Amino acid sequence: MGGVSRNRQRWQSAMAYGAIALCCVLGCLVWSGLGLADRGGDPIAQATEPPPALLSQLPPPQVHPLPTGLQQWRDRTAAQSRAIPPGGGVGDAFNPDYFDQIEPSIVGHLIWSQFPITVVLAPTPPRAEVWRKAVTQAIADWQPYLSLQLLDATDSTPADITITLGNPTLRTAAGLPRAANARTTYEFYWDLRGDRPRLAHRFTMLLRGDRAFAQLLGTARHELGHALGIWGHSPHPQDALYAAAVANPPPISDRDLNTLVKVYEQPTRLGWSLNSYQIPD
Ligand SMILES: [Zn+2]
Repeated sequence: MGGVSRNRQRWQSAMAYGAIALCCVLGCLVWSGLGLADRGGDPIAQATEPPPALLSQLPPPQVHPLPTGLQQWRDRTAAQSRAIPPGGGVGDAFNPDYFDQIEPSIVGHLIWSQFPITVVLAPTPPRAEVWRKAVTQAIADWQPYLSLQLLDATDSTPADITITLGNPTLRTAAGLPRAANARTTYEFYWDLRGDRPRLAHRFTMLLRGDRAFAQLLGTARHELGHALGIWGHSPHPQDALYAAAVANPPPISDRDLNTLVKVYEQPTRLGWSLNSYQIPD
């Protein structure tokens, strides 16, 4: 249990740790529009240091309730699956996914459990109208499955996902800088809005703007898929989360959604409150 003063000390060090050390980068190296030849996976740089001491006070990984939109999607596909006659290709063959490509974080899968998930677009110059339109469309495309709310840029509430227009650079395996279409990163923090600290996460996305609308939309849709929990890539070019840029970016596919459902069915330590900790006055 521990006294408040001892916890306070641990809490303060954890706050500092949580803000900087538990930061992961999924840089979309091969999503850089340089062609289909480069099909290697994105590098996922994960902190190897142990998590903050306070993490030990979190309950073990648990499953959150499936969000309504995903529940409806699962029920719909299950009904279709039942409608197929015996021997007609039901089961996993009917609901394919690429869940085996998804990387959990050190605290489990990157699952949102409080809704709506808030999104903010950092201020952009007026000439970025096409970029804003594409990003807004990508948000609308995911909206039926997970509740998203676009905040006004002047809103003082920190958003769960911040999307910024910019020119991300990534490092190649040889350590050389390389231009990319997007860079999506996340960090963990302690949410203090309830009675007890809750382990939460937030995403930052840097998206390039000098592309045609279809490419901007495809990239934004792909990166939002990462931010919503698909922390990995599909091996199929027909999926929004395919690793490489394609000439005509596909819409969100059944495989993307089946994968997302499977992610949300996993136990995680994200989104749960500490067992016994009291926030100091
Ligand atoms: Zn990606």
